[in-house]
Amino acid sequence: MAVAPDCVVTIHYTLKDDAGTVLDRSSPEEPLAYLHGHGNIIPGLEKELDGKNVGDALTVTIAPADGYGEYDNRLVQSVPRRTLRGIKDVKPGMRLHAQTAEGARAVTVTKVLGDMVTLDGNHPLAGKSLHFDVRVGDVRPATEEELSHGHVHGPSDHHHH
Ligand code: ZN
Repeated sequence: MAVAPDCVVTIHYTLKDDAGTVLDRSSPEEPLAYLHGHGNIIPGLEKELDGKNVGDALTVTIAPADGYGEYDNRLVQSVPRRTLRGIKDVKPGMRLHAQTAEGARAVTVTKVLGDMVTLDGNHPLAGKSLHFDVRVGDVRPATEEELSHGHVHGPSDHHHH
């Protein structure tokens, strides 16, 4: 069957940046399964996969707007280290959950300078063009339960909400 909304699609993928550095890849034993048409993966890739068949391979470049969004400078803030109470050894590259005006948000520590810590609330892949090599491994209809939950249930999932 072809990839269409309400199907569970299994893909093998490699994700590279503009320089060709591999950012992420699915493991051979555990390819990525997702529910098509429900926003479970980035919009640009979901669109490219629509209508494809099992065994199809594609190489696509997804612009930031169709990936993890444009980089937003307003999501970068510097805070005094003492506001990160309870977190030891604050270092660049750490991922934290910070309280912001818009509620809790995942942030990355990008700089520690003296007593000031720079926190970046952008997704680590925001602003990047994403180069995917994708192969469609399997397509099956979703179960009613998966559709009502809006995501895939693996064979070994003991569920949950
Ligand atoms: Zn579920």
